[in-house]
Amino acid sequence: MKRYSVYLSIVFCFYLQQAKALEWPDTHPEKIAVHTYVIEHGPHDEDPKVSHGFHNNPGFIVTDSGVVVIDTGSSYEIGKMILRKIASVTSKPVTHIFTTHFHGDHWFANQALVEAYPDVLTIAHPKLIALLNSGEDKFWLDVFAKRLGDDFAGTKSVIPKLAAENKEYKIGGIRFRVMLFDQAHTATDLMVNIVDDRVLFTGDIVNNEHFSFMGHGNFKGAYEATLKALELKPVKVVAGHGRSGDITLIQEFSEIYKKLRTEVAKYREQGLLDYEMKSAVLMSLNKYQQWSGFDTQIGRYIIQVNAELEKESFE
Ligand SMILES: [Zn+2]
Repeated sequence: MKRYSVYLSIVFCFYLQQAKALEWPDTHPEKIAVHTYVIEHGPHDEDPKVSHGFHNNPGFIVTDSGVVVIDTGSSYEIGKMILRKIASVTSKPVTHIFTTHFHGDHWFANQALVEAYPDVLTIAHPKLIALLNSGEDKFWLDVFAKRLGDDFAGTKSVIPKLAAENKEYKIGGIRFRVMLFDQAHTATDLMVNIVDDRVLFTGDIVNNEHFSFMGHGNFKGAYEATLKALELKPVKVVAGHGRSGDITLIQEFSEIYKKLRTEVAKYREQGLLDYEMKSAVLMSLNKYQQWSGFDTQIGRYIIQVNAELEKESFE
């Protein structure tokens, strides 16, 4: 019996070591501007067995006084990985975390950073803070625990505390312009423009060759957000998902949001219902059919845009 329990504890330790050793082979902090790094992952595979829940693009900016992180990731383990990657670049402490929106893959990793740096300021859209504190975080905990299984082990909900403002923040000598959006990819979005580096973090309003779940969003608002983003003329763009790029990433999504609305509006005028217009609208977006999420998301987008236009017609 004793020997059996020794055997069990060896197996358990081995398992723990395996869990701790979890690494994401393609990830490295890539320096994309003077102060800005991205731990990027994309084009990504959302299958949790492949990604272990890591398929977004945490970014960090090394300022004179510390490190500002923009978006973390889906789990405690990913948060620890982010800390390791930051430590490979600088020994400065993490002083701020901005969260682009309330979807769990962008903030569940906050936990590891807050544990390591208890004084870190966690900043997000005021509606994100209100929503998650009203119990919405339990929904996301449940979704990610089911989706990630063991990879989500030990993850707790560490909700951002400070309400972001539509303004320019100056942190450690670097200017951060924050733009809030009440109706875009979700009702809780913000973008962060690193003014001195001309780098824009768009959150999931813009992705690279990937269509996100838009069920909490609004296509008119998302289109308008892309116009605001284009006005900033960023040199580098860090998308919510998929590799970082340049301003063409924003132009692409601006076109997609606009096209969805104009195409659906056209078929509405002809008296077609959403399921009757689906194949024609899909054809008009044919050039994006290789993008991840095309098969699963675009059909839903059409239904949602149709409902939005219906609602707008009564306003
Ligand atoms: Zn999202």
